[in-house]
Amino acid sequence: MLREILKPENCAECRVCCGFDESDKWEIPLVFGEFREKVENALGVRLVPRGGEFVFDMEFDGDKLVCCPALGENGCKLSELKPFDCRIWPFRVNRLGDLRVITVSPVCGEISKLPIKTLSEFVQKDGFAETLFKTADAHPDIVKPYLDGYPIIAVEKDYTTR
Ligand code: SF4
Ligand code: SF4
Repeated sequence: MLREILKPENCAECRVCCGFDESDKWEIPLVFGEFREKVENALGVRLVPRGGEFVFDMEFDGDKLVCCPALGENGCKLSELKPFDCRIWPFRVNRLGDLRVITVSPVCGEISKLPIKTLSEFVQKDGFAETLFKTADAHPDIVKPYLDGYPIIAVEKDYTTR
């Protein structure tokens, strides 16, 4: 989804977003209910409910980094089953007051190097922002509270009539 602005080879050398600790376990990607069984079978793992969706059942020990169970030597093992959260990362839909906004996580060094204008143009192209907001309508648990300092790339009112 993001190949135009994020090179796979850069991700292959990074993998920062596939590891979690206690403080960021809220970022574990959501697996939508309709894919739960397929993901469980593909990986031989158990998913547990979170809100209306599912997440990997991971245990944490403070700030010790724990890799996502889907991470293999050659990257994510889920290919077409990769969770929506991961396919749009480092973009996020956040709740900011009455609005939903699209932000970009500063955790991703590669995307953070790009000018905001480039990111803004990217999300407006080919219905990317609309896809994010529509998916958020169907799966509201992907919407996380806005975090201070996260650059806002798009605002909901630009794309919906809600
Ligand atoms: S943090 Fe960014 S560069 Fe690193 S693996 Fe994730 S998306 Fe790729
Ligand atoms: S599902 Fe795949 S892309 Fe997403 S965090 Fe796990 S290994 Fe990374």
